[in-house]
This record gives sequence, C-alpha cells and structure tokens, in this order.
Amino acid sequence: MMTSTGPQTALVVGAGPTGLTAAIGLRRAGLSVRVVDAASEGANTSRAAVIHPRTLEVLEPLGVVDAILDRALRVPRFDIRDGARSVAQLSFDGLPTRYPWTSMISQADTEAILRDRLAALDVPVEWTTPVTGLDLDDTGRATVHLGSGEAVRPDVVVGADGMHSTVREAAGIGFPGSGYEQSFVLADVSMDWPVPRDTVSLTFAPDGLAVVAPLPDDRFRVVATLDDAPRQPGGDEIEALLARRGGSAAVHDVAWSGRFHVHHRLAETYHRGAVALVGDAAHVHSPAGGQGMNIGVQDAVVLAEILGAGDELDGYESRRRPVARRVLALTDRMTRAATTRGATVRHARNGAVRLALSLPPIRRRAAMELAELTHR
Ligand SMILES: Cc1cc2nc3c(=O)[nH]c(=O)nc-3n(C[C@H](O)[C@H](O)[C@H](O)COP(=O)(O)OP(=O)(O)OC[C@H]3O[C@@H](n4cnc5c(N)ncnc54)[C@H](O)[C@@H]3O)c2cc1C
Repeated sequence: MMTSTGPQTALVVGAGPTGLTAAIGLRRAGLSVRVVDAASEGANTSRAAVIHPRTLEVLEPLGVVDAILDRALRVPRFDIRDGARSVAQLSFDGLPTRYPWTSMISQADTEAILRDRLAALDVPVEWTTPVTGLDLDDTGRATVHLGSGEAVRPDVVVGADGMHSTVREAAGIGFPGSGYEQSFVLADVSMDWPVPRDTVSLTFAPDGLAVVAPLPDDRFRVVATLDDAPRQPGGDEIEALLARRGGSAAVHDVAWSGRFHVHHRLAETYHRGAVALVGDAAHVHSPAGGQGMNIGVQDAVVLAEILGAGDELDGYESRRRPVARRVLALTDRMTRAATTRGATVRHARNGAVRLALSLPPIRRRAAMELAELTHR
C-alpha cells in the first residue's frame, strides 16, 4: 500500500540491525527507500547474541521470524548465582507469548537474515556511502550530504548510524549520559561448562559479574565486568576469570573476544523535523540483560508503522523514548547490583534477590521485564 498523506521517500542511514529493520518496514509500508552505510560490508562479529520474545513478536509482519528461529538456540531459563551457589531461578516458561524463551543467535546472523529480506524487497544497501552531514530547513526537511558529494532530499531521514551517530550530531540532538568505570569482557568460546544448555547463568562474585549464555554451534557467550580487562582475552584468562567467580570451565577455543567500555546515554529527543533516530543512535546502555539491539529493532518497527500511517513523529517519541528510559534504569540497576562490593552489602543483596524472586508475582514481573513483554 502506498501512503497518500505521509512521507513517500526515506533515506535510512546505517545498515545495522535497526536500519535494516526500519528499511524493511518502510518499504512494506509503500515508501521508496534508500539505505546507505559507511562500511564496505556488513559486520561479521557476534555482538548482540540475544533476541527477546517481544522482538520476535514485533518482527512477525516483516517475514523474518522463521529464519531467526531456524538458526537460533532456544534458552528459557536463568540461574542467578553468588559464586558457586544458586540464589534464585527465573524462567520464561508460561509467559504470555508465542516465544517463551530467549533466542540465542549472533548479530551477524540476524543482520544477514534482515539483509536477505530487504534484498527480496529490491532495496540494495549502498555500502561505502557515508553521510557526512545534513542541513535542516525551516520546515524541518533535511538535505543530507553523502561522502560522494551527492546531496539527497528525502521526505524523512532515519538515523540508524549507531552510538557515534553523525545524523544525531548534525541534527543538533544532544546525547547526555556517562560511562561505567569498569570495562566489560565479551567472548564467544567453546568450552566444557557444567550448566545445562537451556540455562543462562548470571553469577555475582566479589570482583564482579559473569554471565554465561549458550550459543548455537556448541559455543557460549561469556560477559564479565573487570576493572582492567585485557584488550583481547584468551582462553586461559577466561577460564581463570570464571574460576574466580565460582564457575569451573575448560575453554577449548575462543572464536572472538574483546574488551568494551560501556556508556549509558539517551538522546534528548527522538526526532527533529523530519529526522528520526533509532537504535544505538538514540540510546546506549549496559549489556546486562541483552536489551540494546532488541529495543532498537522495536524502535525501527514502530517508526516504520508511524511513518507508513502518515502519523506525526511526536507519537514515535512518546511511544519509544520512555521504553529506553526504563531499560536504561533497569540495566543500570542490574549492573550496579551485580558489581556491588563488600561482604555485608553483597549478603544483603543476595538475600533481597532470593526473597524477591521467591515471590511468584515478582518472579513473573522480572521475567516479563527481561523478555521485554512489558513494552507492549
Ligand atoms: C561486543 C558487543 C556486544 C554486544 N552485545 C549485545 C547483546 O548481547 N545484546 C544486545 O541487545 N546488544 C548488544 N550489543 C549492542 C548491539 O550490538 C547494538 O545495540 C546494535 O548493534 C545497535 O544496532 P544499530 O543498528 O542501532 O547500530 P549499529 O549496529 O552500530 O549499526 C550502525 C551502522 O551505521 C553505519 N554508520 C555509522 N556512521 C555512519 C555514517 N556517517 N554514514 C553511514 N553509515 C554510518 C555503521 O557502519 C553501521 O553499519 C553489543 C555490542 C557490542 C559492540
């Protein structure tokens, strides 16, 4: 269907998961869509490994869910531990969704599935095509400058160009927030690990948090906070790190690893004139709970629906910015609770977590929040 009152042309800046999703949604809504990306090809690293139930629900009309489910590993359970001791369990079993589990799949695979779908809609990604700036006129319409020297004047610009968004900066939208002191280690490894492969373990320990989640192809994602992490941790370092946090692993192979400094930031506004932000361009936060890419993809679906219906962008802001604010607060609480120091405070925290999660309504609420089903 072609929109008659809304925008007819869109420029999507960035072909990461949120830009690809926005482009599919906008094309399906009948807009003429161009997608540009500064990189020479899609990234092939694992990065976001979790797709939550709510994200699959909103992706249904886009025709990509079957391909994601074919590739993903279904993991419904979470074990919260203090060192080697289990403190509480959470489960997605029985949640009110067709997908009561987390789908573990590498971001590279998710992006490949989205790119295939976009290609089937005859929208190519224009790689090696950076946006260098944009000007907004008095009516809010943007002229976008590409690295090639070309100037584009679409009806709407979708800034999906990540945390260091050129679109956001050129539109004059602030990105207040700050960084965490501790760095995060991330690694995808093959290893012997005693926890069943339907369970994610989140371990609190005196020197920080460790999360181990199963991935397809017999791998595991390890995420851990560390004061001074090595740039590219090897198998021995990951084994030692897990051992200090009460887990006994034998690492055979490190497919990919890295050290990251994490920020929590939220764009002052989600749109200026006909320029809208989605994904990391609009919000970044701690990886605790694996929420980032998920809410970005959900932003993109909602934005495409709103533009396709010819509705005002204020509605996009009022629906999506509060969700990001809540996720920033949730992931900040989880990160601070997990990195609490001092035996007395840790003891109190463990007691509070055990007590809260022993109460079925609170346990269900926590699972709903993690599954992002409270964002409906
Ligand atoms: C190591 C790592 C692990 C992570 N783990 C998780 C996780 O477990 N769960 C989770 O939910 N999230 C995770 N994240 C975050 C997740 O990867 C991001 O939230 C997600 O990639 C955001 O998608 P996006 O499309 O908004 O931005 P991006 O993926 O950053 O894509 C932005 C795109 O814009 C392009 N671009 C940038 N500037 C320009 C320009 N000027 N002109 C044109 N194109 C441009 C880039 O080349 C890129 O392709 C992780 C991130 C990292 C780095």
